[in-house]
Amino acid sequence: MADIAPSSEVPVTTNLNAVRDRIDAAATAAGRNPAGITLIAVSKMHDVGRILPTLEAGHRAFGESRVQEAQAKWPELRARFSDIELHLIGPVQTKKAKVAVALFDVIHSVDREKLAAALAREMDKTGRRPACFIQVNTGEEPQKAGVPPAEADRFIALCRERYQLPLMGLMCIPPVTEEPSLHFALLAKIAKRNGLQALSMGMSDDFETAIAFGSSHVRLGTAIFGERPGHFATP
Ligand SMILES: *Cc1c(COP(=O)(O)O)cnc(C)c1O
Repeated sequence: MADIAPSSEVPVTTNLNAVRDRIDAAATAAGRNPAGITLIAVSKMHDVGRILPTLEAGHRAFGESRVQEAQAKWPELRARFSDIELHLIGPVQTKKAKVAVALFDVIHSVDREKLAAALAREMDKTGRRPACFIQVNTGEEPQKAGVPPAEADRFIALCRERYQLPLMGLMCIPPVTEEPSLHFALLAKIAKRNGLQALSMGMSDDFETAIAFGSSHVRLGTAIFGERPGHFATP
């Protein structure tokens, strides 16, 4: 495996170009078109000053884990770069559904009926319809968000039929101690049998494998921005 945490001496734009090259190479090796893979730069914990050079270099798709942190950072950046695409990749509390729908363009972590209902209600109210991924807990880890694989088909149907969510695909975060390819293969299989095209899978240390298994959205933080600071101080 290549080093996943680039030195903080290296400009983030150099890291960004390097991961783009690796995505292109992994796609080509898998016989896929690199244009079919969205690179989400995961900027959680990093401040606006660290994010800005990537925007100036033309990057537009970003991921944040926490609604509140995103609220503190992104309005000012959106005012300067109108075509930013903001992805919510972390768990969403139901009471944050309203802010999530207002702030994000894509939500990767729909994983329970209460949240699906709250998102649908906000979408109907506001007319804003962020694309949604359903998070599947492929490793069935008790501490991790996501629907269990055995309940995925039923939950997908519920989100489509009862809540009419704009479903785009499935997302997973494999257990850190397991071979990720088994989880990527499982996610791809569930998506295929449900007619879902998009797969949000692959992080800094396993995105090339994820691409080989059909990932459409890789979520890379450390490989672009370096190690995360311990916390983000909400102003
Ligand atoms: C933090 C995070 C990432 C990015 O992880 P890296 O290993 O830094 O690339 C991707 N996906 C989710 C859901 C995350 O919370």
